[in-house]
Amino acid sequence: MPRFQKYEQKIRKYKDKLKNLITRIGISYTDEFELNSEVPKKLSLPCHIGFLFFGEYNEDLFEKIMFYLEKIFDSFFFSIKNMGTYNFSFELISKGVRTEYREIRKSSDKIKIHPTNKFYQILIKKRIEENLGMIIAVTDLPLYSSTDDNIIFLFGETHLKHRCCVISSLKLKEQFYNREPNLFIFEQRVIKEIIHEVGHIILGSNHCINNSCVMWFSHDIKEIDNKLFDFCDSCKTKLEQIRANYNF
Ligand SMILES: [Zn+2]
Ligand SMILES: [Zn+2]
Repeated sequence: MPRFQKYEQKIRKYKDKLKNLITRIGISYTDEFELNSEVPKKLSLPCHIGFLFFGEYNEDLFEKIMFYLEKIFDSFFFSIKNMGTYNFSFELISKGVRTEYREIRKSSDKIKIHPTNKFYQILIKKRIEENLGMIIAVTDLPLYSSTDDNIIFLFGETHLKHRCCVISSLKLKEQFYNREPNLFIFEQRVIKEIIHEVGHIILGSNHCINNSCVMWFSHDIKEIDNKLFDFCDSCKTKLEQIRANYNF
């Protein structure tokens, strides 16, 4: 018994020491995902674009993404690369995680949501390594914005300066709304969100005022379904201006 007490005391002492150390060196969530501080070179077009998947997706999803990107951003990309599935390490998956109530009316379960910076940190590194103009992550995980943590369960976000974006496919699934799964509708939504975020990297942060344009800001799933894959005439003109500026 005395021996046991002694160990208990020792453990408590170490725990306190560790706690002090953590406070002293100032570990906090915001420091956890420090993004690359170097200012990236300006986007040059055409460029190479890469896709990284965080989760299980149908094999032919990438083919469909490629088909639409080639059609809508005709000649903007030298190549569209599938960089495969990224496996988070156990430590990384739990980093920065917050729990929130699920965003559907009936449910009261809490769900783990992840900061967008966690993805940007990985994407920036990959973009530089692979010499890509831009890089896109598609994940099944629910996200919150690292720049404004009131923005939760977002569909997608772009880091303009570092030319990377992340799409969360969780809320694009019919199952999220307690409806029957529908792969066709799901993939259409994923592709629209990808075109939207790539559109931001090329055209900037503005949204379009035309609710059938892919650059319309979708407040909910219905608004994603109602918009087209393509840019409206006014956004198309902007794309053509950019093409003319880069001379391709
Ligand atoms: Zn947007
Ligand atoms: Zn538009």
